[in-house]
Amino acid sequence: MSSSASPAVDAAGSENVLKPNFGAARKHFIFTEEHDQLRESIRSFATKELAPHSEEWEETTFPDWVFKRMGELGFLGLSYPEEYGGQGGDYFANLVLAEEIVHARSGGLAMGVAVHTDMATPPVFLFGTEEQKQRYLVPSIKGEKISCLGITEPDAGSDVSGIKTRAVRDGDEWVINGSKTYITNGHRADFIVLVTKTDPDAGYDGFTLFLVDMDLPGVIREKKLEKLGMHASDTALLAFQDVRVPADAVLGQEGKGFYHIMWELQGERLIGAAGCVAGAQRCFEQTLEYAKERTAFGRPIGNFQVIRHKFAEMATKIESARQMVYTTAWRHHNGEYPVREISMAKLHASRIAVEVADECIQIHGGAGYMKEYGVERVWRDMRLNRIGAGTDEIMLDVIGRSYGI
Ligand SMILES: Cc1cc2nc3c(=O)[nH]c(=O)nc-3n(C[C@H](O)[C@H](O)[C@H](O)COP(=O)(O)OP(=O)(O)OC[C@H]3O[C@@H](n4cnc5c(N)ncnc54)[C@H](O)[C@@H]3O)c2cc1C
Repeated sequence: MSSSASPAVDAAGSENVLKPNFGAARKHFIFTEEHDQLRESIRSFATKELAPHSEEWEETTFPDWVFKRMGELGFLGLSYPEEYGGQGGDYFANLVLAEEIVHARSGGLAMGVAVHTDMATPPVFLFGTEEQKQRYLVPSIKGEKISCLGITEPDAGSDVSGIKTRAVRDGDEWVINGSKTYITNGHRADFIVLVTKTDPDAGYDGFTLFLVDMDLPGVIREKKLEKLGMHASDTALLAFQDVRVPADAVLGQEGKGFYHIMWELQGERLIGAAGCVAGAQRCFEQTLEYAKERTAFGRPIGNFQVIRHKFAEMATKIESARQMVYTTAWRHHNGEYPVREISMAKLHASRIAVEVADECIQIHGGAGYMKEYGVERVWRDMRLNRIGAGTDEIMLDVIGRSYGI
């Protein structure tokens, strides 16, 4: 191979000596200048309008005006068509939102928003009738209606096919009975995308999705659930007692709800993985600042090789997860359905985010254990990702089974 393969060698000795540019803006080929501008405006909004309240919202959960304000700014419909009030952007715009919302410094807020933008409304857009889109999607994009997604039940989480919530046809209506638990936005939501069983004898072809208004008689918002982290989000236990909905409340094809929700979960997992990478990155940066300032034995702790290597390990983990997310998002954007790679990205990003947050606590020493520094909160918030939207074990099973074993 000729030496021209290495520009650094060619340039040596000339004025154009190439040096590593560690400060270069982190770019990737999937992002354009438009994405960069969007990134800038979401970051500025999150930093100025949300982050100052993050401590308070840990106690109170974040207020509904966040949705209204984000709707006004166009952040709730980034990839939805303009005819529905969206921005007409691509899927990568949603990634930008998931990444930049971490500057609100509130995992619970990021999750509440992501449930609305990337979990509950995508099925309305993809499977909904025009009337359903006008009634639910358009106001959701404006932030005038808040959505939630109901899959999990007290007796069935990982095993979605084991849900018991029943919808039974009665003339022109359906009657719904059952319960859902751990439902994010469940207390504040105006409507729920509800997974039900409509034909218990039809196996995977016996599930149907419904759009249910949360103010209907028989919808009971039971207790607000207390959690390890994500305190700014509201998490509900919901009951449905003889809730009557019209025939046109069916979302998508009757009997195909299981497949519809499996499709939804792919987007949910990918956006969750993007959030994990961004959360880990922010925690890394905060800790890096700390390691440069905090001194021990007469030098900044970051100058100890042990600590430097911790940063190197963390950075490598974050970068590997980021590349998985971006490449998988690119395939998703190009119309593929890369379930295996989405599962891998979700598994890896969730794991490394918890590992990074844990290491950041360690680097902070006692300060890391204190609420004041916020890294313990990142750890508590991130821990959910190894459970929500499909546990690590379920991701491993999906990946393993994809090889035919
Ligand atoms: C804060 C929070 C917010 C949430 N938000 C929502 C929401 O908005 N909407 C919603 O529908 N759900 C939501 N969830 C539910 C979440 O998706 C489920 O908790 C998750 O899918 C796991 O289900 P489970 O809790 O029933 O655990 P289980 O299914 O009971 O699993 C218990 C353990 O068994 C393991 N396990 C189960 N099956 C297998 C298997 N086949 N092989 C190996 N191991 C297995 C699991 O990995 C886990 O370790 C939320 C959960 C939390 C904690």
